[in-house]
Amino acid sequence: MSQVITRFAPTPSGPLHVGHLLAALQARCFADEHGGRCLLRIEDIDITRARSREWVELMYEDLQWLGLHFDGEVMVQSGRFDVYASALERLREMGLLYPCFCTRSEIKAQIAEMGRAPHSSLGYLYPGTCRKLHRDVVAERLARGDAHAWRIDMQRVQELIGCPLWEDMRRGVQCCVPSEYGDVVLARKEMPASYHLAVVVDDAAQGVSHVTRGEDLFEATHIHRALQAVLGLPVPLYCHHELLKDNTGRRLAKRDGARSLASLRAAGLSPQAVRQSLKAALANEGIWKV
Ligand code: GLU
Repeated sequence: MSQVITRFAPTPSGPLHVGHLLAALQARCFADEHGGRCLLRIEDIDITRARSREWVELMYEDLQWLGLHFDGEVMVQSGRFDVYASALERLREMGLLYPCFCTRSEIKAQIAEMGRAPHSSLGYLYPGTCRKLHRDVVAERLARGDAHAWRIDMQRVQELIGCPLWEDMRRGVQCCVPSEYGDVVLARKEMPASYHLAVVVDDAAQGVSHVTRGEDLFEATHIHRALQAVLGLPVPLYCHHELLKDNTGRRLAKRDGARSLASLRAAGLSPQAVRQSLKAALANEGIWKV
């Protein structure tokens, strides 16, 4: 096997949480077990999050306190919008993107009107309203400067690439059926690249060979696999790990401040004690008891 490269890719939307620690440790330990490297990537593309710099600073403090280190240079997504723009341009040239002028409430209303709207485990699928707009209408609305997002036409993607495979190290080989995930948004004004686009471009740019991340992103990997296929990017191996739960068996939410690493640190826990509790949780159906 060529060199193993994993990554920890937090979104600075709040303080680091024990769930982040689990993700970070999975990536670090997998790399260490295979003599590989573990990279750090800050996924801060949502420029509407005013406090993200503050959270990044706190994150570095938490990582240092935990004694968790990463290899090589840190990749920061907010400095890479030009790279995402050129990936978008390629998709546009391939005729796979279309502008969508619908607002969230319009989409809700369209879905309500449809009665039983198709959906995937990621939520309702966009009904494709703007995909059917006449070319002249699109040109006119763009020229007028109407607010819009860019969506990918997954039916066309499927015609182009079929149903590519990918492998989850726990669940085995998976088949991606692009049209099942709907025409997802790849860019909008306040977020010039979506998570889906940035993550595949960056995993390729960083040479990531193994993506370890939470089970909540399992379905999203189908979308990532479709994007890798159209953009001609390498396909990493995936390992989606289970998520931590609270005493009632409910998934720990990121906004659950009581489980932030900063609060555990403030409560006097040592990094060893935090790691120990994480180990205990994993041995006990993922229930975090601290
Ligand atoms: N940035 C994502 C998060 O913090 C993780 C993305 C990934 O691992 O692909 O939830």
